[in-house]
Amino acid sequence: MGFLLTHCQLKKVESNPLPQESQSQILSPKKTVETQSLEWIKIKESVWIHKSFGSFQGKLYPSNGLVVLTNKGVVVIDTPWTEPQTEELIQSIQTKFQKQILFLIVTHAHDDRMAGVSSFQKKKIPVYSTQLTAKLAKENGYGIPSPILDIQTRLAAGKVSVEVFYPGHGHSPDNIVVWLPETHILFGGCLVKDLDASDLGNTKDANLMLWESSVKRVLARYPDAEVVVPGHGNWGKLDLLRHTLRLLVSPNH
Ligand SMILES: [Zn+2]
Repeated sequence: MGFLLTHCQLKKVESNPLPQESQSQILSPKKTVETQSLEWIKIKESVWIHKSFGSFQGKLYPSNGLVVLTNKGVVVIDTPWTEPQTEELIQSIQTKFQKQILFLIVTHAHDDRMAGVSSFQKKKIPVYSTQLTAKLAKENGYGIPSPILDIQTRLAAGKVSVEVFYPGHGHSPDNIVVWLPETHILFGGCLVKDLDASDLGNTKDANLMLWESSVKRVLARYPDAEVVVPGHGNWGKLDLLRHTLRLLVSPNH
């Protein structure tokens, strides 16, 4: 074991000369969750990332969700990381787009996806998840979504289709991805790491054995994805999935 550890540490220095703190994901420690407001990133005319901020192990990280505009209203994928940022999101959607929110989909039962569920429910906006996410959310005190999503299903929102797909265990036992077939946007959520990520992040509920095959299932199903949005960090293309696979092959590096 001692040898393995030393070996890993040596390789880490070689392959990743930057100290952890210099990663672009980590923000200035002077900023706090309370002072952070939401950011908007436009991917396509009808699809935006809502970028919120939350703390993990004492550091502030950004987190991505989606806002999808349709002729009937707005679909939101994942809540911001905090309740105040969720309130801000709901208000901004009204002022920015003058559309009602049709429903929210949560992609797994962690607070960076679900912290704002009660804000949606107070406004009588349906919150959809799979059975498993609803069960885990209830157990962990993240609110109670309506478990209407099959592990592979398509919802219609006006003229826009929203497909959810459960590829198997990865970052969490319940992580799903969301596919927008008209715009070829894949929301990978926390199953997918951004290209700047040098490790797998929060692996408390991860399955490091099965994660690889789950990512491969997503790659096989959506080979024509043009945009891939990870749970945290910058969006990109399908190489985010391949980068995640590389991290999984050597999770300590
Ligand atoms: Zn998570």
